Amino acid sequence: MQGKAEKAPEKATDLSQAKPVEILEVRQILPCIADSTKFRIISNMAPPLGGALKPLEPLFPRGRYSEKIGALIIQRGNILITIYGSGNVTMTMIKDEAEASETLKNLKETIKEAIAKGVAPAPREKVRVEPMEIYKYLPQTDCGECGEQSCYSFAIRLMNGEVSLDLCTPLKDPKYRQNLEHLQVLTEYL
Ligand code: SF4
Repeated sequence: MQGKAEKAPEKATDLSQAKPVEILEVRQILPCIADSTKFRIISNMAPPLGGALKPLEPLFPRGRYSEKIGALIIQRGNILITIYGSGNVTMTMIKDEAEASETLKNLKETIKEAIAKGVAPAPREKVRVEPMEIYKYLPQTDCGECGEQSCYSFAIRLMNGEVSLDLCTPLKDPKYRQNLEHLQVLTEYL
């Protein structure tokens, strides 16, 4: 994903109702779907932020709150972090456990500071998702159920907003649960 500067929101947001994050720890380390040399990290945040996640969006240059999945999505370099209101946190394209711990530590400190002092909005950056990035998470079977001849053409049309992710019915198979979850996150940036 690539980013370019956007205009910053003008006002800081009040987070006085939110409780400080006390725990943000790694629960599971799995291979990344798109790149087997990288890791997908499942973490736990406590207490969960629930409805207080949305006001945190301006804190991150490439932050995006999704009403649809109830999560704050943060893109940093190649890393994509998704914080769910329930307290689940996933990170993709992580190099190793040390990077996972460091990323979580920074995240926890940033959120704690925002809860204590208020959200200082960062300059916004627009995120551009490439078709290949979407393709990597599709089943790559070229089955044609979506009406396209290949998964790659579906990825291009999805990126252009011409089709919806629901048309790829094989993604409903439980074996693609993580792919679907990640694609739902990626499509928030389209
Ligand atoms: S339905 Fe999904 S798996 Fe089948 S061709 Fe379309 S994008 Fe690929």
